[in-house]
Amino acid sequence: MSDARRPRPYVMPEAQFFWDAVADEELRIQHCDDCDSLVHPPKPVCHYCHSTAQSNVVVSGDATVVGYTVNHQQWLPGFTPPYVMAMVVLDEDPRVHLMTNVVGCDPDEVHVGMRVRVAFEPDGDWTFPVFRPTGAPDAAELPPLAVDPVETLRSARPMVTTDKYEDKVALTGIGMSRLGRRLMVDPLELTLEACRAAVADAGLTMADIDGLSTYPGSTAPGGHSEGGVTLVESALRLQPTWHNGGMELPGQGGAIVAAMLAVAAGLCRHVLCFRTVWEATATERMRQGLDRPHGGGRVAPPMDWSLPWGAGSAANVLALNASHHFARYGTTREALGWIAVNARANAARNPDAIYREPFTLDEYFDARMITTPFGLYDCDVPCDGSVAVIVSRADAAADLRRPPVLVEAVGTQILEPLEWEQGTITHEPQVLGPSAHLWSRSSLTPADVDLALLYDGFSFNCLSWLEGLGFCGIGEGGDFVAGGTRIALGGELPLNTHGGQLSHGRTHGFGFVHEAVTQLRGDAGDRQVADAEVAVVTNGGLTPGSAFLFTRSR
Ligand code: ZN
Repeated sequence: MSDARRPRPYVMPEAQFFWDAVADEELRIQHCDDCDSLVHPPKPVCHYCHSTAQSNVVVSGDATVVGYTVNHQQWLPGFTPPYVMAMVVLDEDPRVHLMTNVVGCDPDEVHVGMRVRVAFEPDGDWTFPVFRPTGAPDAAELPPLAVDPVETLRSARPMVTTDKYEDKVALTGIGMSRLGRRLMVDPLELTLEACRAAVADAGLTMADIDGLSTYPGSTAPGGHSEGGVTLVESALRLQPTWHNGGMELPGQGGAIVAAMLAVAAGLCRHVLCFRTVWEATATERMRQGLDRPHGGGRVAPPMDWSLPWGAGSAANVLALNASHHFARYGTTREALGWIAVNARANAARNPDAIYREPFTLDEYFDARMITTPFGLYDCDVPCDGSVAVIVSRADAAADLRRPPVLVEAVGTQILEPLEWEQGTITHEPQVLGPSAHLWSRSSLTPADVDLALLYDGFSFNCLSWLEGLGFCGIGEGGDFVAGGTRIALGGELPLNTHGGQLSHGRTHGFGFVHEAVTQLRGDAGDRQVADAEVAVVTNGGLTPGSAFLFTRSR
């Protein structure tokens, strides 16, 4: 990789010392002079004690690999596969994680627990820290975790009041547009299809809609947005009393949570929530030269501590955590395989799913590797489509066309560090917080849940949610899904009954809500879960997420 042209990080003033030291072939880390912690990435305050008395110190550069992935996909020019991305923790303070490359050995030799030392790789006018094996034997135990999952799940804040906003709202309408791999239509057209369908499904008219809410809003690049509230309101002129769109929400479902809060507060009666993706078409338009890629140039936070080492996809980051789960708990690819096989088996029963041809566990293993341990079937399907959901006042929901779906609890708390590379390494980051928060707001337990619709941008995400939500213990997800019977339709916990994003398509969170309403109404046809009364739905993860507990009207 000596000829690699690594993306340059955008260096804020507080991080300048790090890159200056690296240019001098030293690894320097921010040091808190009050609590004696190492703090990384650099920031104007210690994230442990909030002291502003910050200096920096040279560290040994001795470290242990706690996560790795052998990347087989060409994400970035200049990074020729296969190459090893790794997460290492510093000997001086194992809470400090560095995303890096392990070089100087066969990629197949890299493993969790491997002892490594910093090396400095020139790249044009820049120098980057990478790590080489020292040849020393592995320590008897893995370094301590910066985020202990069991402790984290116990640390949700208690309810502020028993007066729950969830009791005041209901889901009254759902709609989905055409769904396809490469539809080459205006994403706003798909959005309006979904919105019209949801309004009609609820038995409302557009004039009844007094709120609009979406994720991620008008500024998201690359096929991730239809243009937000701005374009939808421009098209429909609904004159809403409240509206919301943006990315700093508890995941895609955060748009629905915000709508619930606005409705419960008395600001709106019926909020139309929508989520549109057109990644497949956006990619094709770029290939044809019709659109230019967004961004370019230097890498801005939070990607500046991962992209320069070749983490071109969320797959790379999650793969690091999956490798740690495998090493710590003895999980294998077979567990991920059962999740993928199950999704496809369910999609075979769903006429709207993009991929419906079932595959076996052997075929799962035969698929090409993307970034270890993720193969092709561990990754969801980019598509074009829109989903809309209507959140209504509970007292206005009873008279509508269909029985409302009730909201038992919502989980939104952040309990983990938000930097992708500094927090949880046992699970998908940002799964534990919403999970713990969800159960803190309900007397129901995992045993009461009839079906689970868990975000599966990658198969490993699903495994993380199963453990985070307590359907099995931490580290026991592999055993839970083994054989596939427990998570199958008709099993103890039917999982992603519509096919999930792995097979139905990447409707980016909202598809799970659509399926929950469909199932709780008893409308799911060949894939209906018998007597479904309680559904858990999750979205987000890696970025902040949210978890919902929905129930059938009684
Ligand atoms: Zn401190």
